[in-house]
Amino acid sequence: MYPWLEESFLQLGARAQNSSLHHALLIKGPVGIGKTDFSYQLAKSILCKSDTQKPCGKCQSCLLFDAQSHPDLHQVASEKQLGVDLIRDAIQKLSSKAHLSGNKVLIIEQAESMTESAANALLKTLEEPTENTFIFLVSAFPERLLPTIISRCEKVNLYAPSFTLCKQWLESQNIPGVNEDIIRIYGQCPLKIKEQLATKDGISFTDFANSIVQLRQAQVSSLTLAETWQKEAEQVVLWLQYELSKLAMTGLANNSLWALEDKLIKASIALQNPGVNRLLILSDMLTDFGSLMRQQTN
Ligand SMILES: [Zn+2]
Repeated sequence: MYPWLEESFLQLGARAQNSSLHHALLIKGPVGIGKTDFSYQLAKSILCKSDTQKPCGKCQSCLLFDAQSHPDLHQVASEKQLGVDLIRDAIQKLSSKAHLSGNKVLIIEQAESMTESAANALLKTLEEPTENTFIFLVSAFPERLLPTIISRCEKVNLYAPSFTLCKQWLESQNIPGVNEDIIRIYGQCPLKIKEQLATKDGISFTDFANSIVQLRQAQVSSLTLAETWQKEAEQVVLWLQYELSKLAMTGLANNSLWALEDKLIKASIALQNPGVNRLLILSDMLTDFGSLMRQQTN
């Protein structure tokens, strides 16, 4: 288990052991902290035949789990919306007796993407669960769930680690390019940072940081950078927002800074529209950012 989730994991494991765990858990927290892995490990614990707080890794249940063929573990996940058929199918599976005569677990990933009819289909099972059944709803956006669903679940809040723990963990994974900026930009969410640093396509934060130094020194034009970066415009806007917050903290909090901050927020919304002129938006932002940085230098 990830060190920042260990305590919650052990607490819930202990409650499962003494039969005081609620049958429906809403496991929530920001993207990129390991909620899904947490849910599967908790399921493994609940299904494990030994009476330890953590899954033993040796019993028939654990071996089946590791082979991804546990007959009493069911999951629902979809890239798009979770439709009613997927949920009904999962409920159907839960209604039969457990194959290993123990517990049954259903994990619903990105639960917020359930359609309204899917959520309503699930509601009855949440109200009247079959025996020895646990349902985990995993979500980074629980506010999008129906209130009736939320009220029937026990909430498990998971959090990002501290800055220090996040940094230590990333370094222990031998991930190159870990620095303070990248940890702060992605809100100390280790798995998101890992993914970002591992992505070979597109620009890296280091390239971005080096290029904006060149922009300040007028060694490169904002249009040239915008041309190179337009595919990753959303990413660049996020990074610019971060750089701007650093400028604000160094004492340069003037009207042009606040105006640019406002523009960046509007730009990040505008960029969600596929028909928008990305090059124009980005070069405009970079021009303003360049002149702001030069003001600071002078
Ligand atoms: Zn076991």
